[in-house]
Amino acid sequence: MTPYLDRFRLTGRTALVTGGARGIGFATCEALAQAGARVILTDRDEAAAQDAAESIKGQGHDVVADRLEVTSSAEVHALADRHPEVDILVNNAGIARSNIPAERMTDDEWLSVVDINLNGLYWCCRSFGGRMLDRQAGTIVNVGSMSGFIVNRPQEQAQYNASKAAVHQLTRSLAAEWAPRGVRVNAVAPTYIETAMNSYVYEDENLMRHWIGGTPQGRMGRPDEVAAVILFLASDAASLMTGSIVLADGGYTCW
Ligand code: NDP
Repeated sequence: MTPYLDRFRLTGRTALVTGGARGIGFATCEALAQAGARVILTDRDEAAAQDAAESIKGQGHDVVADRLEVTSSAEVHALADRHPEVDILVNNAGIARSNIPAERMTDDEWLSVVDINLNGLYWCCRSFGGRMLDRQAGTIVNVGSMSGFIVNRPQEQAQYNASKAAVHQLTRSLAAEWAPRGVRVNAVAPTYIETAMNSYVYEDENLMRHWIGGTPQGRMGRPDEVAAVILFLASDAASLMTGSIVLADGGYTCW
């Protein structure tokens, strides 16, 4: 039996992270690299991806950067052709567009969010997961959200909530299809995290009070705290887990 701590090590594995230039994606690249994986840090902004990869490389880890716009299924497919060795895929790229009443949402406000959060994530699962199935090994971690379970007041972001609920159900569908062929698929569902995505909220005392007051732990989460859960799910320590949607929400959904 593999000793417990060794199950968390990723030596000899290659991991690819989408939206890795900042926030949760960047912290995830750091976590996976520290655990010994070779990391392919991707983002739609190639220069930002290069800078982010350099900063992790500077800590003595094996990280390369590549451009990936997840909404382009052709680009995703081409990258998977270039990197058929990927053992761990972390689908992190995502956006939110908030405070838009559903009845007034434009086509673009709906489509832009669903295209990145759901379609792009699926293109990546299909292309990289297909190669994992050929090898009968590999694991995927999707970044969902507690907004896939609850409607977070007082923001209006029906398209975001719907996209994340769909990510959770896609995770479970792929997990069931692919488990017999050696590929695990799980998701993490975080609470409000201190990233650029939420920068507009820091100016809004009411909303901050609402978020923090609504969280039993009384605070927002940090990107590294989500990365630690992703590291666990990506590692052999989670070998019995597939189709799990792991809440990392400071207790928010308990109330
Ligand atoms: P950030 O906005 O800080 O980082 C997201 C990164 O993804 C950016 O580098 C962004 O690039 C990139 N990205 C966006 N769209 C694409 C695309 N189409 N193709 C490739 N890269 C893209 O976000 P977070 O770190 O906060 O969020 C990461 C994930 O976590 C998202 O899926 C989000 O929904 C989820 N999440 C976040 C929570 C939070 O409170 N922050 C809570 C729950 C879930 P660019 O700079 O060009 O936009």
